[in-house]
Amino acid sequence: MRVAGLARCKNLPSHLLRMHLPSACRQMSIAAGLKNSSIFRSQGLIGGKWIGAHDGKTIQVNNPATGEIIADVPFMGRRETNDAISSAYNAFNSWSKQTAAERSKCLRKWYDLIMSHKEELGQLITLEQGKPLKEALGEVSYGASFIEFFAEEAKRVYGDIIPATLADRRLFVLKQPVGVVGAITPWNFPLAMITRKVGPALACGCTVVVKPSELTPLTALAAAELALQAGIPPGVLNVVMGNAPDIGDALLASPQVRKITFTGSTAVGKKLMAGAAGTVKRISLELGGNAPCIVFDDADLDVAVKGALAAKFRNSGQTCVCANRIIVQEGIYEKFAEAFSKAVQNLLVGDGFSEGVVQGPLINEAAVQKVESFIQDAISKGAKVLLGGKRHSLGMTFYEPTVVADVKSEMLLAREEVFGPVAPLLRFKTEEEAICIANDTNAGLAAYIFTNNVQRTWRVLEALEYGLVGVNEGIISTEVAPFGGVKHSGLGREGSKYGMDEYLELKYVCLGDMNRK
Ligand code: ADP
Repeated sequence: MRVAGLARCKNLPSHLLRMHLPSACRQMSIAAGLKNSSIFRSQGLIGGKWIGAHDGKTIQVNNPATGEIIADVPFMGRRETNDAISSAYNAFNSWSKQTAAERSKCLRKWYDLIMSHKEELGQLITLEQGKPLKEALGEVSYGASFIEFFAEEAKRVYGDIIPATLADRRLFVLKQPVGVVGAITPWNFPLAMITRKVGPALACGCTVVVKPSELTPLTALAAAELALQAGIPPGVLNVVMGNAPDIGDALLASPQVRKITFTGSTAVGKKLMAGAAGTVKRISLELGGNAPCIVFDDADLDVAVKGALAAKFRNSGQTCVCANRIIVQEGIYEKFAEAFSKAVQNLLVGDGFSEGVVQGPLINEAAVQKVESFIQDAISKGAKVLLGGKRHSLGMTFYEPTVVADVKSEMLLAREEVFGPVAPLLRFKTEEEAICIANDTNAGLAAYIFTNNVQRTWRVLEALEYGLVGVNEGIISTEVAPFGGVKHSGLGREGSKYGMDEYLELKYVCLGDMNRK
């Protein structure tokens, strides 16, 4: 096997020779295998047809671990987006009139197909996004779980009957789909950020135009191919990608699009919110975080280290719920810093297809430069690097898992999301001070606390201005719970029964003249 593999790789490009040879070779053969798979698509999906940009323009998709070009996808803009909106608008009439049971069956079939292609989808995620294969396979299960959950919820869109105030009236409330939805998603979860939006939208009877990140469109296209195979009718799910501002503007300008759902940066989210005002669209935003992870003196040290490690280093620190500030009480600070640094030192960095790797590359060079500038800022203001603090010897966009001590609130590391494998440690004395530091940010997505004191747990979790709180636990996302933030971290919730409300309008009906014979 090994000999055959190496023989296939005799034409390895020179820059790949820097990588461990079997690893680079494996990457290339996995990419080649995926391109032959039945789920690999590299065109946009509009009205059930796979098509390119009207002017033939394309954009490259790269493997962040190697820089290799995996595929060229269409560089689409306003014209294709308007076509996709028309398809979604036309499909809405029949899709929204299907019974909930019929829509549920299609979604369930889609879920089954995603799970039966778990390995290929996981590989595709690792290839275009970089996360370790085990984590990518976890994302497939997590992403699919939204489709399964909302296939079930489709059948539970109940209305209400309201006791009338007058004897000859009957009052009730219908729940109806909002209409065409524009869904704009980021690169850090190429599958799950899409299924979390498309699952409930389709379950409610909406149709969708998805714009995945141009950095990771292949997983989105593969998922869309499986949706077609599942019998989801043409036009119900459309995918366009290319010129992000143009696509965004077309979605915002169209009166046929009744809702925008977005996951991404706070800056783009604010633009979309302002743009949605022109046509008074509904909007859900899942934006950046600046998650505090508070470790109290009374925490179990092992639990806190394990939880903080998971909350910080998942996807190499590239998630909006990653612990961004580890705020540690002075009595446990030194012990925690030592144990945590030891645990971080054991994190194996490498290409996501290599056995045992738990830290993949960052998404691109800009991401590494951002991390570097944050570290420089912290050092210049007196912080101390305990571990890492530089680009990894593997080169490319690999960065060493890093722990920085003596971080202060005024440093960039504490003020903004670093979105990389850097754990800043801040010190505090009292519970009040910890709450004050934790809430001293415009962000309000996830927060974590580690303590064994029940009264403190309640006091602190109630005082935290955040949409999600993990207590003695670093991984908290699940399809059955509402995910979303407060303050500048966004509007609305995804997942759970509450996630359905984002795609439903209430219609109040007053039925009069009941007593006429
Ligand atoms: P990130 O920094 O995580 O890439 P972005 O907010 O830049 O966050 O990107 C999230 C998604 O928003 C991506 O699909 C991206 O292409 C898209 N996007 C970026 N700018 C705009 C825009 N002006 N209008 C609409 N979508 C945009």
